[in-house]
Amino acid sequence: MTDLAALTSFRVGGPARRLVTCASTDDLVAAALDVWADDEPWFVLGGGSNVLVADSGIDATVLLVRSAGIDVLEESATSVRVRVAAGVSWDALVATALERGWSGLEPLSGIPGTVGAAPVQNIGAYGTEIADVLTGIDFLDATTGAREWIGADDLGFGYRTSALKRGRAGIVLAVEFLLGRNGGLVPVRYAQLASALHVELGTAADAAAVRETVLRLRASKGMVLDRDDADTWSAGSFFTNPIVSTAFAETVPFDAPRWPVQDEPARVKLSAAWLIEQAGVPRGYALPGSRAAVSTKHTLALTNRGGATAEEIAELARYIQARVFARFGVSLVPEPVAVGAFEV
Ligand SMILES: Cc1cc2nc3c(=O)[nH]c(=O)nc-3n(C[C@H](O)[C@H](O)[C@H](O)COP(=O)(O)OP(=O)(O)OC[C@H]3O[C@@H](n4cnc5c(N)ncnc54)[C@H](O)[C@@H]3O)c2cc1C
Repeated sequence: MTDLAALTSFRVGGPARRLVTCASTDDLVAAALDVWADDEPWFVLGGGSNVLVADSGIDATVLLVRSAGIDVLEESATSVRVRVAAGVSWDALVATALERGWSGLEPLSGIPGTVGAAPVQNIGAYGTEIADVLTGIDFLDATTGAREWIGADDLGFGYRTSALKRGRAGIVLAVEFLLGRNGGLVPVRYAQLASALHVELGTAADAAAVRETVLRLRASKGMVLDRDDADTWSAGSFFTNPIVSTAFAETVPFDAPRWPVQDEPARVKLSAAWLIEQAGVPRGYALPGSRAAVSTKHTLALTNRGGATAEEIAELARYIQARVFARFGVSLVPEPVAVGAFEV
């Protein structure tokens, strides 16, 4: 039995009760309906870049999504509607879009994982979220066994969340996007990216340069998977940035970074990385004898330095949560999904 460690970016996790590789959408539908008919426990795995699988593994059938295909549904002079199978690599989609002159995905360059998992936590980076370009999903509902179309408005997208992340059970079979065709220029909506590109925030930049710059910035933070760099053996950011009331935010030092929350004037988003550093946990920190450590390039990434167990990573996460709570009264919420018989 293969350990799931080989299929996760953390490189941890024991075996699945059963592993079914689904190379097409039809295979995926058939495998899921079989498992559900037998009332077996199940779990759907894409690229394994946002899961922390228990050392004892998963006592369930794991459906590994490896379906392929990018289909153009409709094209005009200014836009294109495409349907992408769940198993396509997210970054391969971004690269293909750039090659074909479709715009809107460039700021999301370099995020690991599959297209099917991307709506689950509404992936985002550099001022863009998948919610900005997704029109809907082809979904196999685990409660009814029916295949249905769910439009973007019904997916309950929020910051690193969606109705799927909040528990709507089923499988994303394909994702539809509405992308631009605007001659290779895209708006830059993130200050750090604008500064690296030497353009004003809010102005347009060359799409290929945006992708290249995002990949460079991400690599400098250990946020592009690299088999030779243990700073990337992670799930990316381990904690989401906490959203608190403006009144509560008065209790953290005035120089703590904070950002407005869209449509919620009474709440602000704090920087989890800042809170962790100020709580006394520096980059590179490891508990004594542990093979899990905070990335040396990014405070928000917990990493496997080689041979770490899931429990060592979870222990480091709990330590950081306790430090931040003791110092600021803020509970940091993990972003990756803990799978198997343990919790973070
Ligand atoms: C180095 C690094 C950098 C990262 N940077 C970012 C970033 O900038 N922004 C960001 O948002 N995330 C980031 N992440 C997190 C991760 O890449 C994303 O969450 C990604 O979308 C996970 O995709 P996956 O296929 O690997 O999902 P998995 O880890 O396989 O699964 C994640 C969750 O989605 C579910 N799932 C998977 N496929 C499906 C499907 N077809 N249908 C229904 N549910 C499904 C799983 O059951 C699980 O609950 C980063 C991770 C790493 C390792």
